[in-house]
Amino acid sequence: MPFSSLGISTHLIKGLEKEKYLKPYPIQEKTIPAILNKKDVLGIAQTGSGKTASYVLPILMNLEGKTATKNRHVNVLVLVPTRELADQVQGVFRTFGFYLPFRVKSLAVFGGSSINPQMQALQNVNVLVATPGRLIELAKSNALHLDSISTLVLDEADKMLNLGFKDEMDEIFAMLPKKRQNLLFSATLSPDVQNVERLY
Ligand code: AMP
Repeated sequence: MPFSSLGISTHLIKGLEKEKYLKPYPIQEKTIPAILNKKDVLGIAQTGSGKTASYVLPILMNLEGKTATKNRHVNVLVLVPTRELADQVQGVFRTFGFYLPFRVKSLAVFGGSSINPQMQALQNVNVLVATPGRLIELAKSNALHLDSISTLVLDEADKMLNLGFKDEMDEIFAMLPKKRQNLLFSATLSPDVQNVERLY
């Protein structure tokens, strides 16, 4: 099945051809139509399965007409366990965002590096990819407002729980609008992950 049958726009198809994504991986066939339809998704997927593009592509399409937000308000929040994954995911948003007929600004923020440049960079950001601790610091210092978020992604949710981020995740969920699209990706469906799915 080609990407176009999943509802992917011709602009993004150009990007997919350039990036040599010739046909969708199985997880992409399943999640792309559901995410485009604003459904919640639970994806059990390993690294290497193509899980990142499975949410990046439909999220980018859903942003059409919604990117003009108040300053320091973001549309999409992607929570990840590590700095490396934050950079990697933001890179995929940047790569495919380039092909859209409208501008999408994405940014990665994470602990272990100075907070000030991240605070300054948080101007007119649409997609924020963040590790939980740093996200809370930024929200508490008013560098960022979370009340316009329409889509939340938890990527590598099992790893976030294994690294002890449960309390931070709960604190973040409490700051988000109740009505939102929830996309959860995890390599395993442990009872802890199922619990997050039930509660968030
Ligand atoms: P991920 O599981 O998201 O880390 O992706 C693993 C790798 O597969 C990355 O290098 C992606 O660029 C690549 N990839 C994802 N989807 C496709 C696709 N449909 N066709 C070719 N490569 C892909």
